[in-house]
Amino acid sequence: MASDGAQATFEANLERYAALLLQLGVNLQADQNLILNMSAAPVEELAPMMRLLTRQAYEMGARNVFPQWDDGEMARTRMLLAPEEALSDVQLWRIRWYEEESARGTAFLTLVGSDPDLFDGVATERLTTVRRANARASEQLMVATMKLAHPWSIGAVATQAWAHKVFPNLSADDALAALWDYIFKATRADQPDPLAAWREHLNRLNVHTDALNRLRFKRLRYRAPGTELTIDLPEGHLWEGGGSALAKERPVVPNIPTEEVFSLPQRDGVNGTVSATMPLNYNGVLIEGIRLTLEGGRITQYSATSGADALASIIETDDGSHYLGEVALVPHDSPVNRGSPVYNTLFDENAACHIAIGRAYPTCIEGGETMSQEELAARGVNFSDTHVDFMIGSAALDIDGETASGERVPVFRGGLWALA
Ligand code: ZN
Ligand code: ZN
Repeated sequence: MASDGAQATFEANLERYAALLLQLGVNLQADQNLILNMSAAPVEELAPMMRLLTRQAYEMGARNVFPQWDDGEMARTRMLLAPEEALSDVQLWRIRWYEEESARGTAFLTLVGSDPDLFDGVATERLTTVRRANARASEQLMVATMKLAHPWSIGAVATQAWAHKVFPNLSADDALAALWDYIFKATRADQPDPLAAWREHLNRLNVHTDALNRLRFKRLRYRAPGTELTIDLPEGHLWEGGGSALAKERPVVPNIPTEEVFSLPQRDGVNGTVSATMPLNYNGVLIEGIRLTLEGGRITQYSATSGADALASIIETDDGSHYLGEVALVPHDSPVNRGSPVYNTLFDENAACHIAIGRAYPTCIEGGETMSQEELAARGVNFSDTHVDFMIGSAALDIDGETASGERVPVFRGGLWALA
C-alpha cells in the first residue's frame, strides 16, 4: 500500500466486498446463524477478513457467527507427517454439526486463499485418502449443498503465497495489492454500488439462461484447437445462472464472482476429444495440459503434461468420476478473465467455458431436487463423490446447439456469446 489514499481505497473496497458476500452471496437474514469457513490458508492472513465479516454480520442482525478456523501450514504438515492410517480419520462431530445447521437454514460462507502449491511434494495417494474419507463422511452434506438446502457462498482473500504465484515478477507488497485489485474488479466490489452492478449483471445472465431454456437443445457441438466434442443434454435439462433458481424468495449467489450459465450433460451422451485451455489447481497440485477422450459419456483416455497423477486420482475416484457432471458457458471477455490463470477455481471457472468431471447438480433437471438418486440416474444425471471443473474456453472456441429437429444454432463464436 503506497499511500494513505491507497490504504483508504483498499479499506473501502474491502468493506464493500464483505458486505457483498453477506448481502448478495448468502443473503444473510436477521436472526440467522452464519458459519464462517476458511480454506487451508495462512490463518493470520485470513483473520482480518473473518473479523470484518463477523462484525458486519452482527450489524446485519445475525443470530450467531461461528468461525471455523483452519491453517494452510498445519494442513500441509498433517499431509506430510501424519501416520498413513490416520489420514482417513475425519472430524465427524463437525460434519454432524454442519448437517444440523444446514437443516435449520444456517448460512455457510467459505473464504478461499490457499497457496496454489500448498501440497506440492505430498504423495498423491495421501491426498486422495484424505479427500475420499471426507467425501464419504460428508455425503449427506454435499447433497444438501448441491440442492441449496442452506444458503452458501464462497469468497476470496488475497494471500502472500497466492499473490506471488499469480504475479511472480512483482514485489511481495505489490503482488498482494495487485491480487486484491483483481479480486475487487472481478467481483465488482470496486464499483460505487456493487449490488446495483450485480443486479444488472445477473439480469444479463438470465437473458442467456432464458434463451437456452427456450431452445432446449438436444446436443452441443464444441470446436476448438484440440477439441472436437459433442455433449448431449438430457430431456428436461435446465440451464441455471445468475444466482439460484431454487431460492426464488431468498435468492443466493453461491459463487462470487459468477459469470457462468450451466447445465448438465446426459451421462452417456458425451463423445470426442477435449483439451483444457488453462492449468487446473487441484488441492494444491497444478495439473497442466489436460486432454480427455470420451466415448458414450465415459472417459476412455486421459493425459496431462504435468500433474498426471493428480488427474488420474480425480478420474479414478469412483465409477461416476469417469463421466461428466457439468457443462458451463462463460464468454471469453468475462471481467474475471485476465488472460492467464489465477490458480483458484472460484475465479478461473468464471473466466472460461468449462466442464466438470463427476457429480452433476440435480437442480439442472426439472423437478430434480425432489427426485431420488435412482430417478435422477434414470434421467441421465451423473453421480460421484467428486466434482472437478476444468477450463476449455478460449477465443478460438465455437459452440453450436442442435435442436430436436436437427437444426444447428450458433451459441458461441470465437469464445463469445452468439445467441441472443
Ligand atoms: Zn461451473
Ligand atoms: Zn462445477
